[in-house]
Amino acid sequence: MEKVVIIGSGCAGLTAAVYTARANLNPLVLTGTMPGGLLTTTSIVENYPGFPEGVDGFELMQRMQKQAERFGARVEFATVESADVSGSPIRLKVDGKDLETQTLIIASGAGHRHLGLESETKLENKGVTYCATCDGALPMFRDQPLVVVGGGDSACEEATYLTRFGSIVYLVHRRDELRASKIMAERALANPKIKPIWDSAVTEVMDVEAGKVTGVRLKNLKTDEEQVLDCAGLFVAIGHVPNTQLFKGQIEMDEAGYVIPKRGSETSAKGVFVAGDCADNVYRQAITAAGLGCAAAIDAERYLAALSQ
Ligand code: NAP
Repeated sequence: MEKVVIIGSGCAGLTAAVYTARANLNPLVLTGTMPGGLLTTTSIVENYPGFPEGVDGFELMQRMQKQAERFGARVEFATVESADVSGSPIRLKVDGKDLETQTLIIASGAGHRHLGLESETKLENKGVTYCATCDGALPMFRDQPLVVVGGGDSACEEATYLTRFGSIVYLVHRRDELRASKIMAERALANPKIKPIWDSAVTEVMDVEAGKVTGVRLKNLKTDEEQVLDCAGLFVAIGHVPNTQLFKGQIEMDEAGYVIPKRGSETSAKGVFVAGDCADNVYRQAITAAGLGCAAAIDAERYLAALSQ
């Protein structure tokens, strides 16, 4: 039986691993399909304290993993298929095998939100992507017009990054004002290769028959006017959806699926703690996820200490 199992290997999960490992709890970290979490898909992280010149997202996560392993954390590339948190021990099915644990830290993060269009799904990886840093440099996007959808920091960051490759980058947003932080918004809008298209929604990605992106159909939400914009790539950057489906009906969540923590990082299930983006719809920063991972580790440690008294 494990003492601590951590689901997720992003900032929250790996910080929880550092703390529980240093408490001699020998934590087991299950990475899921994206080791290092969403931060590994960011280029340079400029707002993580301690790195005045910024740090590559992938490198930051590798360093966190190394730090956790140095103190005895075990990091396994494995996916949790089902969980039963109704009693003690907590039971998990991990890649077909049964696993029991006294405590569980859910740090499973969030995935990319999709527009929900049929044509978007059909053209995924054929010009539709959710990660400019991962895919922006692909030959099919070189010197071509590209479209980014969204109005947050991600959309601004992706659009700015894509100006290295595309001939022009259209930033399509459903309102006439960006949600992004001032510095990111100003940087994007000052870039001569970025052209904002306000009050507009993507209603169709073309061309499904051709099997590649050739353009997008846009609708102006104020005038209902439609236009087709030629482009070779659609980069969707419209936020995230928490990865909490495993616990639906077992742990208290809000309508969007974010776990609702009770006291500190406690959830409504005994011995189950939560940290990071899967419980945070407000801050969603690397540093807040790390802080919440630390809190969950301390709460799990105290819970285990109380059990053994
Ligand atoms: P976000 O702040 O939630 O922004 C999502 C954007 O997508 C919003 O502009 C939203 O429009 C739009 N949107 C949502 N659903 C849509 C839909 N169905 N169709 C069209 N547009 C839709 O998400 P984010 O940009 O991914 O940022 C998440 C968090 O990470 C934020 O806290 C951000 O500060 C942080 N972040 C930081 C950095 C950095 O500092 N380097 C980089 C990336 C992200 P509305 O504005 O109308 O709601």
